Amino acid sequence: MDAVFYNGVSARPIDAQVSLLDEKQQLLIEVDGETPILIAFSDIAITHSENGLIVLSFGKNPNRVIEVRDESFRSHYLKINHSGKKGITYFKLLNAGWKVHVLLALLIIGFCFGTYFYFIPYIAESAVSILPRSFDKKVGDMAFEQSITEEEIDSVATLTMNEYLKKMMPDEYKNYHLNVVKSDELNAFALPNGEIVIYSKMLRHIKTDDELSGLLSHEISHVTNRHSMRLLCKSLSGYLLLSVMMNDVNGLMTIILDNAHNLQQLSFSRTYEEEADISGLKLLEKYKINPKGMIDLFEILQKEHSVNIPGFLSTHPVTSDRITYIKKHIKNHPFSFTPHPELMQLLTKAKTQMSN
Ligand SMILES: [Zn+2]
Repeated sequence: MDAVFYNGVSARPIDAQVSLLDEKQQLLIEVDGETPILIAFSDIAITHSENGLIVLSFGKNPNRVIEVRDESFRSHYLKINHSGKKGITYFKLLNAGWKVHVLLALLIIGFCFGTYFYFIPYIAESAVSILPRSFDKKVGDMAFEQSITEEEIDSVATLTMNEYLKKMMPDEYKNYHLNVVKSDELNAFALPNGEIVIYSKMLRHIKTDDELSGLLSHEISHVTNRHSMRLLCKSLSGYLLLSVMMNDVNGLMTIILDNAHNLQQLSFSRTYEEEADISGLKLLEKYKINPKGMIDLFEILQKEHSVNIPGFLSTHPVTSDRITYIKKHIKNHPFSFTPHPELMQLLTKAKTQMSN
């Protein structure tokens, strides 16, 4: 078969003969007065292919090119060449135009971003399930030690508040401990070890026991759902990925413990907040506590939002949307509740005990 050959050294076209060795998957190129070239299909790239023309290239330095203007040769080559399909796809992509190239680039970038921002954090978040519950306690203890000092704790009001917790939820109060901390910040949070911290300013803003019970049920639900543990893992996803892949639980624990001090700064997502609200409501139902207290509290906090830069709202975003779904949930899952004068008494007592 007649062909035009470029030897890669000079740009001059050279007349050549080509033959396809089907069985051996090789191409034979013969030029007058030169040693014949035998080349495997797998070493050949299709640089151009259209009806009646095929351009093949092979080798690097020199890169040699063979051009065959014959449709039966082209179709035969494409048919018998098992490595050719890859070449065609590559060729098609190469000649697909800038729009396709931009699209491909965007897809690749999108994939990398997606992996980094969604997939890896998702894996890291799931890593929590391989951590034993006892580890939550360890992390919480460390975070508590690093964030709260002995002098900040109002020990008298703290005692009263733990009595409150015992009366409020007699079945599970033992897993939690409440701390009243003297602070001008409107905040409350719970650590994975069950330590609940409530700032004195927050306690002063709370008017009824139902509001306080609503807040506590919400905070406790963050602990039972392991939210801060999940969030911590997510924020450390880059480091954690390797440990998870290697199933290195000890490495995982070390990284988390090293970062326990960050726990307080982590801001819960809306999903976590909603989860904590809904499980909080279940806890209120169990102890026959009026769920309206939770709504009242969030409304108070929301009003404060316009005046202050509140700590609680930065880590537990309260939106009107949130108040709406809590109301809706209560409406769809009504339950009976009773007044708890003994809780109100303890709340009043704690408030009078607070030194500042
Ligand atoms: Zn929350």
